[in-house]
Amino acid sequence: MTKEYELSTQCVHAGEMRGVEGTPHTPIYNSTTFGFKSTADLLDVVEGRKEGSLYTRYGLNPTIRSLEVKLASLENAEAGLVFASGMAAEAALFFAHGRDGIVCIGNAYGGTLELLTDQLPLVGISTYLPLGEDVDKLEEVMKNKPGLVFFETPTNPTMEIFDIRSISELAHSYGALVAIDNTFASPVNQQVLALDADIAVHSATKYLGGHSDVTGGALMGPMELLEPVLLWRKNLGQMMAPETAALLSRSLRTLPIRVQQQNRNAAAVAEAMSVHPRISRVLYPGLEGFPQHELAKSQMSGFGGILTLEVDGTGEETTRVVDNLKLILIAPSLGGVESLATQPITTTHYGLTPEERQRRGITDSMIRFSIGMEAPEDLIVDLNNALSKI
Ligand SMILES: *Cc1c(COP(=O)(O)O)cnc(C)c1O
Repeated sequence: MTKEYELSTQCVHAGEMRGVEGTPHTPIYNSTTFGFKSTADLLDVVEGRKEGSLYTRYGLNPTIRSLEVKLASLENAEAGLVFASGMAAEAALFFAHGRDGIVCIGNAYGGTLELLTDQLPLVGISTYLPLGEDVDKLEEVMKNKPGLVFFETPTNPTMEIFDIRSISELAHSYGALVAIDNTFASPVNQQVLALDADIAVHSATKYLGGHSDVTGGALMGPMELLEPVLLWRKNLGQMMAPETAALLSRSLRTLPIRVQQQNRNAAAVAEAMSVHPRISRVLYPGLEGFPQHELAKSQMSGFGGILTLEVDGTGEETTRVVDNLKLILIAPSLGGVESLATQPITTTHYGLTPEERQRRGITDSMIRFSIGMEAPEDLIVDLNNALSKI
């Protein structure tokens, strides 16, 4: 399928391999192996002269290949790779392109920080994690000649925005690749390759899956950069199961409509909470008063379904608000059709010391919301009720 089509058309049609009975979608091929008419035919696939199926762990399975074409189309990329989880995608990426050092700018997902801080240094990979003012001195860090610059934007839970174009320009001038974890925005709201990043990273567990029932990960980018990652995926055995791949493809067909509704709902909740007397701060990039609203507008076409509220009260009072939510579920994760809430100090940032939390701008009174597809009026009523219990 050509790239002339709009994103929502690609989501429905890209990569679909119609089945023998005229099925509109690629069937689920559970087979672990695939047969050939002759050794010559087998060698054509093994040696890459012909596209074809061979062995599922390699990704050479029709259901997986079909999904990867669809994933590539989401970020308008030449190629896509699917993984058993978002962390699997990151690990393979770091091994393939981060061996000369990895810079991770700003707040990142807890698992990412653990991998970069505790594990990769054990195998000799240098990692640099500039935060706050150090980000302004990124050039200093780049003098160590890292091979990869990695970041999220917006970040969790403070919704900090990083300038994708200018960081990419700086990183490229030092010969480094740029990979962006685009999980929070989703490709519907932010096209990172079009903003000069090299590789898009996704936890497909979040918006791409969208129903809190798929664990997966994805990388999208030029074939030349994904080929070395593919070898790591193959031999670390990080492949997603075909049944899960079919479920993820099913979810992707409705990605734009879900994300657009979540954008609208989050904006409505953010607006309502920004005038609530018990809310001291609303961190949502779509609000005009958000400090980085202009930067967000310059690189995002929608502002996403994640927002963080700061309650005008103590950590304990904030917990009481969370515990009094009835419709909104107390749970980590994000991107599903149902709204979720967590207090970062009890989940995503539980393991950090108070000093480290302060350095990352995380307070006891913050609640991070992943806004789903419910009627926004109902979400606002739920929040108002919970806030009245302080
Ligand atoms: C959840 C998440 C990950 C990790 O993804 P898993 O699918 O849980 O492995 C990475 N980055 C971000 C931003 C996430 O939200």
